[in-house]
Amino acid sequence: MNASRPPVVAGNWKMNKTNPEAVSLVRELIAELGASPPCEIVLCPPFTALTEVSLLLGGTAIRLGAQNLHAEAKGAFTGEVSGDMVRSTGCTHVLVGHSERRRLFGESDDMVAKKTRAALASGLSPIVCLGETLEERERNETAAVVTRQLEVAVLGLPPDAVPRLLLAYEPVWAIGTGRTATPAQAQEVHALLRARLGGRFGESGRRVRILYGGSCTADSAGDLLSQEDVDGTLVGGASLEAKGFARIARAAGAAR
Ligand code: PEP
Repeated sequence: MNASRPPVVAGNWKMNKTNPEAVSLVRELIAELGASPPCEIVLCPPFTALTEVSLLLGGTAIRLGAQNLHAEAKGAFTGEVSGDMVRSTGCTHVLVGHSERRRLFGESDDMVAKKTRAALASGLSPIVCLGETLEERERNETAAVVTRQLEVAVLGLPPDAVPRLLLAYEPVWAIGTGRTATPAQAQEVHALLRARLGGRFGESGRRVRILYGGSCTADSAGDLLSQEDVDGTLVGGASLEAKGFARIARAAGAAR
C-alpha cells in the first residue's frame, strides 16, 4: 500500500442474502464500523437488495456497488440491468468482468470492455476484475493473460475516465478455494498492472487503486495490504459475515 492511494475494501456478496438477511448484515456492519469506517468500503449485494441496502447506508460513508451491468443502455434484454438502473439505486460502483461472469456466463474480454465503458457512461466507477486460471499460471502465462485482459478492457479508455477506475487482480485459482495468493505473488502482478497503466496513462494511471481478491480473510489481509502495490481487497466469502469483514477493513485502515 502506498499513502497516496487510499485503501478500498469491497465486499462481493455474489448470489447470497435475501433482503431481510441483507438488512441484518448491513446493520451489523454499521454497528461494527460506525458511520466513518477505517477505509473506503464498497458493498456489492445482489441486485434485489440494492435499494434496501442503499437506504440503510444513507448517512454513512460506506458505498454501494452492483455485481454486474449490461453493456447496452436500455432495450429488449429481458432479465438484464443497465448502468443507469444500477446508478438509480444509489450505487457508485459496479464489478465488471468477475471471473465467475467470464467463466460461467461466457463474458469475453470484449464484453468486459463494453461493460466498462457502459459503467463509466452511467457515472459509475467500474471495478474491473482480471486474473489467470491455475493452468495459465502453471504454463507461466500469468503476465500475458492479465496484460491481454487489461489491454482490451482498460488501456483503450479515454484518459479522463481513469480517475474513476479501479482494478481487482483475482487469480481464478484463489477465488472461493481457500488458497490465497502469497503477498509476493500478488505484488508481482499488481506491479506489472501498475506499470502498464502508467505507461499508457502516466501519473493518473499509476494512481489507479488495484485490489487483490481471492480467499482474502481477516488473517491474510494485513500481509497482502503491506505490499507496495496492493491498495485494498475484493472479498467474497469473508464479506458475508460482519465481524470478519470489519476486521479486514480495520487491517486496511491500519496498513495505510
Ligand atoms: C470474489 O468473488 O471476488 C472473491 C474474491 O471471492 P472469495 O473471497 O470468496 O475468494
